[in-house]
Amino acid sequence: MKLLDGKAVAQKVLGEVGAGVRDLRARTGATPTLAVVLVGDFAASKIYIANKKKAAESVGIASRDHVYAEGLSQPELSTLLESLNADPDVHGILLQLPLSKGLDEDAAIAAIAPEKDVDGFHPLNLGRLLAGSPTVVPCTPAGCMEILDHYGADLTGADAVVVGRSRIVGKPLAQLLLARHATVTMCHTRTRDLAAHTRRADVLCVAAGRPRVITGDMVREGAWVIDVGVNRLETGKLVGDVDFASVRERAAAITPVPGGVGPMTVAMLLKNTLAAARRQLGLG
Ligand code: NAP
Repeated sequence: MKLLDGKAVAQKVLGEVGAGVRDLRARTGATPTLAVVLVGDFAASKIYIANKKKAAESVGIASRDHVYAEGLSQPELSTLLESLNADPDVHGILLQLPLSKGLDEDAAIAAIAPEKDVDGFHPLNLGRLLAGSPTVVPCTPAGCMEILDHYGADLTGADAVVVGRSRIVGKPLAQLLLARHATVTMCHTRTRDLAAHTRRADVLCVAAGRPRVITGDMVREGAWVIDVGVNRLETGKLVGDVDFASVRERAAAITPVPGGVGPMTVAMLLKNTLAAARRQLGLG
């Protein structure tokens, strides 16, 4: 069984981003800059953005905080996003979700200029992905693909099963697998017999947000398994959506939690930020 080490792949990506940032600085004098917007008092979001900012700093990407506990209205949020859209020194806008109660996330995402949407959630960017000509790809699915490619997964003609159909993970991941000529099945809570589908998978990607929903008996011998889930048990232990102990007995390759997809998400965010800065500075 091959352990798919997301931490190591993320380090490789961050190394490449760091080199790209130095090249961009040398050629334009500009520093890629990420505006981080958080509206609401969410402990988990604060940890996520602290991690993202630390990683950004490590590769030479500057970040600017726009953090509001509560009390920002939709028009105020739109005004903030418009000012960041118009600021030539800001190349990427990270709108940390969720937003505080009463704010419309879809409207806020749509208010971000597509060229600064480093999460790839803007409808235009999702549409480009669907059309087969993506500009920016959502970070977590992009990270899953990077892991599969790094370890040489054979996707052409493979039966790929994606459990979960969220806009940020499942749906874009299915599109990316399809673009690589996998035969893709998407499963969700209304799927009649989940195990019947997962057992057919050569590549099984799980983003359900349910601890250990996939067990060894649901996995085909020799499958590649990507576990996107991050669930904290009452004991405080962090586990994925895949029961690692039983699935590792059957899988050919599997990502651990933590240390699998999680680090990749941050690395891909910074890769997207560098790419956005390059495009805005005319480097293509
Ligand atoms: P989400 O928006 O809650 O979507 C979960 C999806 O899974 C839904 O489509 C749901 O189906 C499906 N689902 C839930 N339980 C299921 C079950 N028992 N059988 C089959 N399908 C089931 O979650 P998300 O935002 O995509 O996140 C999924 C997981 O990935 C979470 O654990 C999250 O913390 C983690 N995550 C990790 C990273 C990272 O960087 N590692 C990034 C993002 C998310 P319905 O559509 O029918 O409800």
